[in-house]
Amino acid sequence: MTQRLFFDDAERLEFAARLLALEPAGDGCRAVLDQTAFYATAGGQPHDTGTLGDARVLEVLEEAPDRIVHRLDHAPTGAVIGGTVAGRVDRARRRDHMEQHSGQHVLSAACAEACRAETLSFHLGADVASIDLDRPGLSPDKLATAEELANRIVRECRPVRPTFHTAEEVARLPLRKPPQVAGSIRVITVEGFDVSACGGTHVRSTGEIGQIRVVGAEKTKGMTRVEFVCGGRALGWARRQGATLDALRAALGTSEAELGAALARLLAERESGRKERKELAEALANYQAAELLAAAPVAAGGVRVVATVLDGREMKELSWLAEKIRKAGRAVALLGGRGEQAALVLARADGIDLDLRTLLTQILPLIEGKGGGRPEFVQAGGTRRDGVAAAVEAARTAVAGKLGNAE
Ligand SMILES: [Zn+2]
Repeated sequence: MTQRLFFDDAERLEFAARLLALEPAGDGCRAVLDQTAFYATAGGQPHDTGTLGDARVLEVLEEAPDRIVHRLDHAPTGAVIGGTVAGRVDRARRRDHMEQHSGQHVLSAACAEACRAETLSFHLGADVASIDLDRPGLSPDKLATAEELANRIVRECRPVRPTFHTAEEVARLPLRKPPQVAGSIRVITVEGFDVSACGGTHVRSTGEIGQIRVVGAEKTKGMTRVEFVCGGRALGWARRQGATLDALRAALGTSEAELGAALARLLAERESGRKERKELAEALANYQAAELLAAAPVAAGGVRVVATVLDGREMKELSWLAEKIRKAGRAVALLGGRGEQAALVLARADGIDLDLRTLLTQILPLIEGKGGGRPEFVQAGGTRRDGVAAAVEAARTAVAGKLGNAE
């Protein structure tokens, strides 16, 4: 049986205790004490960390009712069963958990009052804490009302007190939720605002919570999950938002008030630029297709064979060009691209007896590529840019052989 020192006093972070059990476990060991100030993971709140003698406390868990196990990185030097060890809880982590957990009680009570939404569960995460409310799709306005009420309670610096009660006494208390434990029940009261059964660590006045800020809300399985930050986390959150805004203001050279309009202008410009580039690229492809066709030798049956390597061109641009050549008359396009990657696009006009899939399979190894397509249009990308010219030349030779010589 381990007595919990934090039940009466969450500010007590240093303590001495009698060592009841010490056993090796994994790389370290596990210790059980007659009393502890370390909070064990429960009720949505993670465990404390700190030291026991010269050992680090890595994890604290309640293995059986009232049996709290401390997982340590090694056995404390000089520790003996029945002897005394000194414990010290990490202050910053405990403080943060107190701010978030007390903030949760206040926010949950505010949601019950302002939104008629009850809290079903609480999770204290490493970056944000969250509560699941029993109503789906709570509007941002409703949540803002709850946030305002919660922060008024914070500013009023109301006392937060732990008390212990029997089940009979608890039945007469105005608890927000029925207790989930039997026996002696610990109750946390935020004076004049909230009464909840809870085993967590809490601040002594709501003022210590500093601020409660709702930072996200989403619908989940018929509930609303509300994410929030309190105290030091709220300050960190506000600072990060400020830094993001500063960076945006500097990048766009505008004031905070003008930021939305400046961003909308920028997006509109980008869109019209994109359209313009596409039109230009199409026009360029038309010119280039005509130029390549005019310079191409004529094979049997009047088929023009365009075989060329274009540097700095990606697959998409080659595809456009090949499509233009293919549509321009009796023509075959055998195009290689040396952009970021090796690219091949082969295309032929309808009515020419040539399955380009077979041809592609033959030349693919030259660029160590992968690809495919239809008999009249295939494309492939590969890793060997230095193999592109040889692949195009091999394709040209094969097509010439298939079609016969020029008339
Ligand atoms: Zn609680």
